[in-house]
Amino acid sequence: MMTDQRVGLCECCKELKPIAYIDPVEREYCEDCFAHLAVPTATRIMDYLLRTIPFQVGDRVEARTAGVILDGVGTVEEVSMDLEKYGTPVYPSFRVRIEQKAFPEAPDERWYMEAQLRKVNDD
Ligand SMILES: [Zn+2]
Repeated sequence: MMTDQRVGLCECCKELKPIAYIDPVEREYCEDCFAHLAVPTATRIMDYLLRTIPFQVGDRVEARTAGVILDGVGTVEEVSMDLEKYGTPVYPSFRVRIEQKAFPEAPDERWYMEAQLRKVNDD
């Protein structure tokens, strides 16, 4: 009996098989290979995401709470992403150390979402 599961060339075993999973860069995996490739696949997905996110560790950014209140200018110290089931990217968040506080009560550091940050060019 036919199913609606598509057949494709598995990235791993290079055979035409029913495809169990397609990663964000369109590579296809059969069920057998995906089962034992889960960890390396997740690693590759992470590499892919790290290359596409807008801010990297070391970037100088302007950070705003709720996208409105300027906390100050600082440096991205850490990038975090959770993978919710393989290949479903969750929005990345960025830990920023505030070096030039916009007001005295601004946090020393805080986690921000992409929309709360704007890249600053070094002089
Ligand atoms: Zn395979």
